[in-house]
Amino acid sequence: MKIHEYQGKEIFRRSGVAVPQGFVANTPQEAAEAFKKLGGPIAVVKAQIHAGGRGKGTLKEIPAQRGVQLVKSAEEAAKVAEALIGNTLVTIQTGEEGKKVNQVLVEAGCNIDRELYLGIVVDRTAKGPVFMVSPDGGMNIEEVAEHTPDRIFYEKFDVDTGLLGYQARKLATTLGLKGKSIGTAEKFFRALAKMFVTYDCSMVEINPLVVTKEGELLALDAKVTFDDNATFRHPDLAELRDLTEEEPAEVRAAQSGLS
Ligand code: ADP
Ligand code: MG
Repeated sequence: MKIHEYQGKEIFRRSGVAVPQGFVANTPQEAAEAFKKLGGPIAVVKAQIHAGGRGKGTLKEIPAQRGVQLVKSAEEAAKVAEALIGNTLVTIQTGEEGKKVNQVLVEAGCNIDRELYLGIVVDRTAKGPVFMVSPDGGMNIEEVAEHTPDRIFYEKFDVDTGLLGYQARKLATTLGLKGKSIGTAEKFFRALAKMFVTYDCSMVEINPLVVTKEGELLALDAKVTFDDNATFRHPDLAELRDLTEEEPAEVRAAQSGLS
C-alpha cells in the first residue's frame, strides 16, 4: 500500500524523523492560508500523487506548470494550487495518462546545501531491510545505479536490534557528513529504521535527503510503502489509503479478500 508524501511526512514527524513544516491543502484558499501559517518568505507547493518525478513533471492541461513549484506569497501559493488541483500531472513515473491531482502540500522552503539519496528496501537475499544511500541525491536513482553503481552504499540492519549506532555513523560518513551532522544523521537514520519496522514498511525512499545551509538534515521528499500482508496489524493506517490512486481491479480483489 502506497501513501501520499504529506502522509509519509506525518509518520516521519511522529517517529522523530526531521521534515520541513508543511500543511496539506485541498483548495487554493487553504494553500494561501498554509503559506501564511508557515510565515514565508518562501514555500514550495507540491502536487500530491502516488508517483515521483513531480518536480520535472508537467500538467496535461497547462504544459508550463510543473508539479513542484517555489512560491513567494500567499497569492502565488493559491495560484499554483489552483493550477494543480483538479488537473492531470504527467511524470516519468505516471505513464502518458498521468495522475489527477486532488491535493497539494504547501511546505516551508529550505536552503539546500546538498541533496543526498536514502532508501530502505527489504532485500530478500540479505533476508532483511537494507539502507541504500548515495551522495548523488535529487537525481533518478535508477540512473545512478546504472551508470555509477559504486556511488550507492548499502547497510543491512537487524529488525530486532534496529540500526546500530556504528552503522548509522558509517552511513553518515559515507555520505560525506562531518562534525555535528554525524550525530544528527545517526539519530535520523536510527529513527527511520525503527519506523520502518514499527509500521511494517516494505519500502521507504527519501530523495532528496538534504543538508541545509544551516546544517540541518531534512527529508524533503517521502515515499512510504507498507507491506500489504501486514496491514491487519495496523488498522489505523487503513484510513491513509487513497483508493482513487489504486488499480480498480486490485481494489475489488482486496474487497473480496483476494491478493
Ligand atoms: P519529486 O521527486 O516527485 O520530483 P521532490 O519532493 O523530490 O519531488 O521535489 C523535487 C525537488 O524540489 C527536490 O529535489 C528539491 O530540489 C525541491 N524541493 C522539494 N521540496 C522542497 C522544499 N521544501 N524546499 C526547497 N526545495 C524543495
Ligand atoms: Mg523526490
